[in-house]
Amino acid sequence: MKKAVKYSILGASGALAAINAVRAAAFKPEKKDLCALPAEAVDVEKACAHLSEAISIPTVSYPEKEKVDFSQFDRFHAFLDDAFPLVRERLEKEIIEEANLIYCWKGKRSDLDPIALLSHQDVVPISEGTENDWTHAPFSGFNDGEFIWGRGAVDMKNHLIAVMEAVEALLAEGFAPERDVYLLFGQDEEVSMSETGGAKSIMETLKARGIHLDSIIDEGGAMLPVNLKGVIRQKCLCGVGVAEKGYADIEISISAKGGHSSQPPKHSAVVALADVIKDLDRHQFKAEIGPHLMDMIQNVGRNATYPVRLLACNLPALKPLMKAAMKQIPLAASMMRTTTGITMVSGSPAANVLPQKASVTVNFRMMPGVSTEDVIRHIRTCVRNKEIEINCLKKKEASAVSPTDAKAYRIIEELCQQESGDNIVAPMLVIAGTDACTYEPVCENIYRFSPFRMDAGLLLCAHATNERLPVASFGPAVAFFKRYIRKASAE
Ligand SMILES: [Zn+2]
Repeated sequence: MKKAVKYSILGASGALAAINAVRAAAFKPEKKDLCALPAEAVDVEKACAHLSEAISIPTVSYPEKEKVDFSQFDRFHAFLDDAFPLVRERLEKEIIEEANLIYCWKGKRSDLDPIALLSHQDVVPISEGTENDWTHAPFSGFNDGEFIWGRGAVDMKNHLIAVMEAVEALLAEGFAPERDVYLLFGQDEEVSMSETGGAKSIMETLKARGIHLDSIIDEGGAMLPVNLKGVIRQKCLCGVGVAEKGYADIEISISAKGGHSSQPPKHSAVVALADVIKDLDRHQFKAEIGPHLMDMIQNVGRNATYPVRLLACNLPALKPLMKAAMKQIPLAASMMRTTTGITMVSGSPAANVLPQKASVTVNFRMMPGVSTEDVIRHIRTCVRNKEIEINCLKKKEASAVSPTDAKAYRIIEELCQQESGDNIVAPMLVIAGTDACTYEPVCENIYRFSPFRMDAGLLLCAHATNERLPVASFGPAVAFFKRYIRKASAE
């Protein structure tokens, strides 16, 4: 290579590196002029005692309604009346169907759309045989000073009680909202599929009364401390769920003659089914880094260490590379695509009988914008065997996507940022289902966010053994809801 060419290449790469270094240095969180939050009065001891008592009432839901002990829900309602006397006195309370609760705190103005805070009262049962694996009994609500233990401590009696504490405290302080404030607590979120269930009944009740909600806050997003050596230091990721994935259990079957296994045909139904499974596995849905995921990656990138920022400031150009890497991580992949979970297979009932029908059940989790119909079309296209029978066993469509420029989102964002400069707020897609999307007919601004700071390990203990809430996260959550209600219920 000629010297001049060599030097000009070297010079150009040097200039590019310098430009990149400047860009990376400037790739930082936007500086916002946010004043620190004034202290918020919260009686943490009392709040923790209330949460312990709430956990000790086993409001367990089951898909079979006859299995549900509704007397526990009556006990739970009586407990709420006792623990929150001002709420009992000043809010209108209705119980619809068996145990769904609607509280309405009348605002000064009836011309403004109300805000709503959602929770579910029910919890999942304790898996049989695991009762003794718990450090403290699952319905003890035991508080050891560091954690409050028990079913519902994270999902989501913590959230429900924090909301109640906030309303009770605001009432005691003489606060009067401009807008009506609704507290909507369903009875069966853990087992309902939105088309039936408590949330639907509550929504229909509001709709029949001509009520349109300004905004909703429900479970789903979280405050997750992130601390990865050399990547990001002592930050907390506040993910606000702006959408949630859909759910469909689809059974795909193949019929055959059956008969005695001593004279098997060339291909039995099970062999044909294996081809169907391979086709489904080979043709996954397309993965995309959507705008919200990109927002989240960029926000985290801006808060990372300098070497990571060097990469992160070039994210749009690195998108294909990043997509390929993320597809290898199941959690990251599930944020990018409709997932295909092949879960159940069945053939004949005995070893010496050829199956007359072989079937596979596939659990699809759909991205917003992908319907159950789209999934069925996808199956028909990618499975080569056109003799298959498709049967949708259970479904819940993906939610709409709530805007990030609505007042309620901005309030959540601002409160998190004001609470600590280390909080990174970003919109996110919720992978599990919540009651929130049931309210779409009466509300466009639906946000899924639980203001409890806890690490991923503790979040994963919801529905599992040793579900427990860090005591330190409870006071700030009550304070968050007090501030949120004050701001969101204003004009
Ligand atoms: Zn829940």
